[in-house]
Amino acid sequence: MSTGGTLLVTGGGRGIGAATALLAAQRGYALCINYRRDADAAERVAEQARAQGVPALAFRADVADEAQVGKLFRALDDALPPLTALVNNAGIVDRQSRVEDMSATRLRRMFDVNVVASFLCAAEAVRRFRRTGTAGAIVNVSSVASRLGSPGEFVDYAAAKGAIDSFTVGLAREVADIGVRVNAVRPGLIRTDIHADSGEPGRADRLRPAIPAQRIGEPDEVARTILWLLSEEASYVTGAIVDVSGGR
Ligand code: NAP
Repeated sequence: MSTGGTLLVTGGGRGIGAATALLAAQRGYALCINYRRDADAAERVAEQARAQGVPALAFRADVADEAQVGKLFRALDDALPPLTALVNNAGIVDRQSRVEDMSATRLRRMFDVNVVASFLCAAEAVRRFRRTGTAGAIVNVSSVASRLGSPGEFVDYAAAKGAIDSFTVGLAREVADIGVRVNAVRPGLIRTDIHADSGEPGRADRLRPAIPAQRIGEPDEVARTILWLLSEEASYVTGAIVDVSGGR
């Protein structure tokens, strides 16, 4: 089924972003798969997307960097049909730490990648939607950390995701009159590489008993919710924050 849409997934080479890109390819979206370092992973996702018969571009850019975001969107404009959808997925955690031990450098990077990048990419997307009269859709990838606070682990990350929740509501209300929808998903514990970056690769397994559903989520389960929010099925849904967390 071809939707005729064009989707940019930031951090689309691995984890939730890769699952989102692959499901979008199955549903007929032309794709731009952004990544920061792992070119092989992003190229593999792009190849799998092309095998579904859709155009796909893998493009390296640190989305926390305004100049690189500009290049990313210009590359997309040159290679693909006009943008109709954006998933602000790229995100990072840092080593588990208490607030009193967090440096300003760590905090700035955390907010640059997890918050500023989503503002920059959304701004580029909204400018295009406005110019082309496209009823575009944006999904921001937040986290249940925004309401749990992640004490003793990463309060910085949780606070950044709290900013994403507010950003989602504010931008949704700002652009609703031009037909653009903005929503967020809040994943719980999902099986990806991000947990290893916290310094505890087994973190998700340790926390599993506290998940009401008693299991870790799969990237595809988040991807399906994102694709629903992007689709016409969710035509009157905007400013919504959808937990995908097994009840956590
Ligand atoms: P992941 O497996 O670590 O993948 C992260 C992706 O983001 C990678 O493709 C990485 O690129 C990309 N990325 C990181 N920094 C970037 C930057 N500055 N510019 C461009 N791309 C960048 O993570 P994940 O678990 O799939 O997480 C995806 C999103 O879900 C994040 O926003 C995360 O906070 C959120 N989330 C995850 C969980 C979970 O349990 N997994 C729970 C709640 C929320 P490279 O491949 O090039 O390194």
